[in-house]
Amino acid sequence: MTDVSSRDVRADRAVLVTGAAGMIGSHLVDRLLLLGRTVIGMDNLATGQIANLGSAMADERFSFVEGDVTDEASVARLGDVGEIFHLASPASPSDFETMPIAILRAGSIGTMNVAASAIEHGARLVLSSTSEVYGDPEVHPQHESYLGNVHTMGPRSCYDESKRFGEAVVATHARHDGLDAGIARIFNTYGPRMRVNDGRVVPSFVVQALRGEPLTVQGDGSQTRSFCHVDDQVRGLLALMASVELGPINIGNPDERSVLDLAKLVIELTASPSAIEHRPLPQDDPTQRCPDIFLAEQRLGWRPLIGLREGLGTVVEYFSRTVT
Ligand code: NAD
Ligand code: UDP
Repeated sequence: MTDVSSRDVRADRAVLVTGAAGMIGSHLVDRLLLLGRTVIGMDNLATGQIANLGSAMADERFSFVEGDVTDEASVARLGDVGEIFHLASPASPSDFETMPIAILRAGSIGTMNVAASAIEHGARLVLSSTSEVYGDPEVHPQHESYLGNVHTMGPRSCYDESKRFGEAVVATHARHDGLDAGIARIFNTYGPRMRVNDGRVVPSFVVQALRGEPLTVQGDGSQTRSFCHVDDQVRGLLALMASVELGPINIGNPDERSVLDLAKLVIELTASPSAIEHRPLPQDDPTQRCPDIFLAEQRLGWRPLIGLREGLGTVVEYFSRTVT
């Protein structure tokens, strides 16, 4: 049953976004402010950029707290909120190498702190989980019922297992303490405001193309990903928050592409003289990834609307302004 009355009550209360200075978080904050909400953003700036919150900072309904979700006292001090989007975690495979312990802590301790705060305030919590919980999937496309193929000790395990643990935290509190929550399994999401040196494939290729440098395709480029524009992702997360679904629910764009095809498309869109250079494929790099979004369509009435060409255009435009 859809509990419309509790949704209306929540809408009068502030929204907490952890990871607010990040790519998805900052776009979500802007959208929430446009919707007239009062928003608290928390971020430790590990991978986020305060500049991403430029327009939010000028809005009196926004307050920013520089803090770490793994610090229980800092999370407890944030005060009364009716909705929490928990996005705080480094997310790029290059971060898996440079800050693996911080990733383990954000997904585990951070999620436990945020879940405790949601229970205390009677807030609904949306957790940003990931397609990485499917590991290197042997089932394709990935439906939420697929339990995954994760290497528990490999270089990606700090991220994959912290997110899987986060799902367990949320599901267990939902069962035992009545936590009102939704779990979003986010598939490769890109958009303006990613770091120049983020390391993920879309910003890497676009920046390389704009600089006329070789595009670094790892492996033969036949591995696939399915890319979702951040504006579609934000709509999906809002739809999950507005629902009563626990999920998990995949939020992603099922338009599957090979990495080599992505490189060629970026070169075409930027009219770049760049060549393509192959690099070694990192260990445990998933071979294929594509979301089954039947549940999102059926339960949330959500599907992506922004095609890859159009979406990449917003990234090219962003980095054209910021990259030299
Ligand atoms: P991002 O790196 O741009 O944003 C993450 C934000 O979290 C950053 O601003 C960072 O400073 C902040 N952060 C990290 N650790 C923190 C901590 N301990 N306390 C407070 N803040 C902290 O990445 P993104 O792409 O915007 O991802 C946002 C969330 O969505 C992440 O949880 C990520 O795992 C999840 N996700 C993203 C994708 C994707 O393709 N973009 C896919 C699956 C899941
Ligand atoms: N990739 C690449 N060149 C790069 C960065 C990434 O070929 O400069 C590949 C990577 O090996 C993977 C895909 O692009 O197969 C997506 O990588 P990304 O780091 O964006 O995210 P992932 O989906 O692996 O978490």
